[in-house]
Amino acid sequence: MTSSISTNAFVHGKSVETPERFVVHNPSDGSVLAEVSQCTSEHVDAAVESARLTFEGTWSSTTAAERGALLRDVAHSLRANSDRFALLESQDTGKPLKQARADTATAARYFEFYGSIAETLEGATIPSTRDVVASTVREPFGVTGHITAWNYPIQIAARSVAPALAAGNTCVLKPAENAPLSSILLAEVAVEAGLPEGAFNVIPGLGTEAGAALAGHLGIDHLAFTGSQAVGAEVMALAARNIVPVSLELGGKSPNVVFADANLDKALPYIVNSVIQNAGQTCSAGSRLLVHESIHEELVSMILDRFAAVTVGPGPDDFDLGPLISARQLDRVATYVEEADAVGKVRTPREFGRRDLPPGGHYFPPTLVDDVDPSAPIAQEEVFGPVLAVSPFRTTDEAIAMANATDYGLIAAVWTRDVGRAHAVAAAVRAGQVFINSYGAGGGVELPFGGYKRSGFGREKGRVGLEEYSQLKTITVRLDADD
Ligand code: NAD
Repeated sequence: MTSSISTNAFVHGKSVETPERFVVHNPSDGSVLAEVSQCTSEHVDAAVESARLTFEGTWSSTTAAERGALLRDVAHSLRANSDRFALLESQDTGKPLKQARADTATAARYFEFYGSIAETLEGATIPSTRDVVASTVREPFGVTGHITAWNYPIQIAARSVAPALAAGNTCVLKPAENAPLSSILLAEVAVEAGLPEGAFNVIPGLGTEAGAALAGHLGIDHLAFTGSQAVGAEVMALAARNIVPVSLELGGKSPNVVFADANLDKALPYIVNSVIQNAGQTCSAGSRLLVHESIHEELVSMILDRFAAVTVGPGPDDFDLGPLISARQLDRVATYVEEADAVGKVRTPREFGRRDLPPGGHYFPPTLVDDVDPSAPIAQEEVFGPVLAVSPFRTTDEAIAMANATDYGLIAAVWTRDVGRAHAVAAAVRAGQVFINSYGAGGGVELPFGGYKRSGFGREKGRVGLEEYSQLKTITVRLDADD
């Protein structure tokens, strides 16, 4: 494998040039990183056709054990190329190199995990009448479409494509235009590792062009979407025209709920990291802090001390905090914070502006907005930046009501030494994942993940993530034979 950046579409195991290309910038300094294939509906057609050919040809005749072994080989190749993947991801997204390394390791884990459980995808036998034996089998959908976001590109691609392949589907992936490079490399590495041509195709391009063409394509049998609420709704409408099943992994406004008896020293690094990681551009960022009024001042001052110590700089140079993905995103975050001035007290580290940062990069300081009215936009909407909205509460009931008072329901954390209260809050919070005395942006690959409310539906990760990429067939046999 060469070390130059792959920028072309990848269809049927081959790099495909397209007449149109779009520019991808390095968010750390604003320089041009690559010019990438801008696929149109014809390229989407070709990719879907390739996936169909492979599904009906070689892939459908492989056993689950063979698919599992291949996926574990992909995991091995990912690890063998991890330096290259991590640097590329850091350049493309601006995230610190150590974060990009962790994302690459997690992507390898997805292939390993789903490779390891591929052959455990079982059906059941069902008690029926005396003369009937009834059973179920799990079968692949066929060709699965995958549309992904730019914030964790390699992780999200692996999270979705690995279980789809393990269940016996073939895939067409449309990565986000802001950061498509690691997805192209992932497909190349997977085919080099032995995946058949056409099992994993990548069609970079614009959302409104390649993305919409894939979402509304008659040739796909399932669509997995990761992105914003607004686009998720559009994509679901496009797929609905062809009755294509959809899973939606959307945004969040996740709270850390901290009670007076919590161990603040233990909670602090989690709370800070949950909003600093990937510059706050994480669907499951802990972007709200709900804190008991008796420890409010103390915890806020501990967080501000940590924020002041956060190092900031270009992703590949591996500081704590990298840039935001784009000038547009920087503008969006800055506007939210400006407007939050009217509904809370904005606190940023004073020395941030004096740091020596590349002028073309999109840097935003870690920011805390204190005493926020829980109904204000900064406490309700996904800012997608290193911005923490803090609101104090008095009672457990008030804390639960505040935790549930947004449209979102992706994850939540509760910090307390009272095990009964921890479980009561976990039960009452409407979110797909709840952490007690911990916060993991999504947790490990084995933990089911997905939204309540407008954070989406369907689950990825864990065993259920494999089941989501299969459909159930019931087979019955009558035993009263003619003779
Ligand atoms: P986005 O919705 O703007 O784009 C997501 C993808 O959809 C991109 O590939 C884009 O090109 C494509 N797209 C855009 N318009 C389209 C259209 N009309 N038809 C088809 N495809 C289209 O989201 P984003 O800005 O890339 O990502 C940020 C969002 O993703 C945040 O809301 C974040 O919370 C969410 N996210 C969720 C998860 C999760 O697992 N729940 C993970 C990561 C990101």
